[in-house]
Amino acid sequence: MVVIIGGGLAGMSTAYHLGNTPCTVLEAGPVAGGLCGSRTIDGFVFDYTGHLLHLRDPRIVALVDEWLPGVFSTIERKAYIHSHDVRLPFPFQANLHGLPPEVVSDCLMGFIRSLDVPVPDSPEVDFETWSLAVFGRGISDAFMLPYNEKLFRRAPAEMTADWVAWAVPKPNLEQVVQGALGVVNRGLGYNSTFRYPTRGGIEVLPNVLADRVRDRIRLNAEVQRVDMDRQVVTLADGEQIAYDELVVTTPLPRFLNMLEGPSSELSSRADKLDWSVVGCLNLGIDRPDVGGDAHWIYFPDDDSRYYRAGFPTNFSEGVAPEGTSSLYVEFGLRRDEVIDEEAVCREAIADLTRQGILRPDDRILVQDFIRIDPGYVIFDRDRQAVMNEVVPALANRGVHLIGRYGAWTYSYMERALLDGLELAERLSGCKAAQGRQGALGV
Ligand SMILES: Cc1cc2nc3c(=O)[nH]c(=O)nc-3n(C[C@H](O)[C@H](O)[C@H](O)COP(=O)(O)OP(=O)(O)OC[C@H]3O[C@@H](n4cnc5c(N)ncnc54)[C@H](O)[C@@H]3O)c2cc1C
Repeated sequence: MVVIIGGGLAGMSTAYHLGNTPCTVLEAGPVAGGLCGSRTIDGFVFDYTGHLLHLRDPRIVALVDEWLPGVFSTIERKAYIHSHDVRLPFPFQANLHGLPPEVVSDCLMGFIRSLDVPVPDSPEVDFETWSLAVFGRGISDAFMLPYNEKLFRRAPAEMTADWVAWAVPKPNLEQVVQGALGVVNRGLGYNSTFRYPTRGGIEVLPNVLADRVRDRIRLNAEVQRVDMDRQVVTLADGEQIAYDELVVTTPLPRFLNMLEGPSSELSSRADKLDWSVVGCLNLGIDRPDVGGDAHWIYFPDDDSRYYRAGFPTNFSEGVAPEGTSSLYVEFGLRRDEVIDEEAVCREAIADLTRQGILRPDDRILVQDFIRIDPGYVIFDRDRQAVMNEVVPALANRGVHLIGRYGAWTYSYMERALLDGLELAERLSGCKAAQGRQGALGV
């Protein structure tokens, strides 16, 4: 029996791809879907901040097309950066035109100097050193360092750069110079288009998957303890369930703290793992077109507490009542940070108005604040050391870490689906190999 902790995309994808192999998904909440869910408030649909689908793997493209034919539109990204009171196209480093001349000059000269600096390829390198080598001093100081510090709430020199190399586009000199002179470089980077449902929020994706594995999901089934020696999980109501293989999508530090019995010594590693929380203010506005044509805007400067704003009504018309529009702003919070939510929301609305995103006479129809905890995994040297130790130690005990928080990584919806697919293939292969002994087929 394969027991899967968590009914988000990663857990349900594992169950789906396991096919006939006996398995059960234990989901703590009353619905499946995890972070890939949507909430509707007075006709406004909000995801857990923006959830835009970027598909690259042909197997996942085929699955999504089969499950939800015609449901997703493919949309060309319109992302901006608000800096020095100017709105620049994303990415910053390739669209400097419009910034104060001294900032453009610092960015250009720093980038030119960085061309002689080799890009460090060690996973140990800190984020600040990596950014200076890739973009130079000016671009690092104006965007890379302040933006990431606002998002993760850790000093860039304390974080490692091992999560970032694939996600941040490095322009060439020609692109930087052209961008500084006003030639718009739009299509750079991993997410120049995205998919989003034409009607309803991103929850259509987990919902269709939940339908396909409904007979294998148990809702309101929170796992509280795991005994790897007896190969048993214990639920909040005391029920015990035996497993042959355990799939973990619950946040890794919480999982480590669930361990009991003789092999629970790994629990002590949980304290070494750090993360940030995402605060999200959702607003429904009594007019169309808030945000202009933007899908989302980054805010690296210290003139607002939020690091990003997004505009769901620009992803899809079907997420707000007619004649209205919606936006959300995201705040990075340290995991132990206590904030006065009302004051933070008031301040954010004032900043959005000063920046011209809201108008002074806008009527706010819906105001809603949520916390996503954990939000982002912090990559640092402690994380590297813990992962190097616990991943093989747990795998040896038949415990597999997948998904954004089980694998404790910087990950996305497609990766969560792929994690489930790839693990199911490995477990099914292992079952075929062990076959007649019935290793998985309890
Ligand atoms: C702010 C933010 C924005 C994002 N934007 C995007 C985006 O635009 N595009 C994109 O592709 N990805 C985005 N992501 C990432 C995406 O949400 C995740 O990669 C994906 O949804 C993770 O799925 P998962 O199954 O790994 O984890 P989760 O969705 O976290 O699912 C884990 C499940 O486990 C359950 N669980 C936890 N503990 C227990 C327990 N003890 N017992 C039983 N069940 C338990 C939880 O209730 C949950 O349902 C974003 C993430 C964040 C935080």
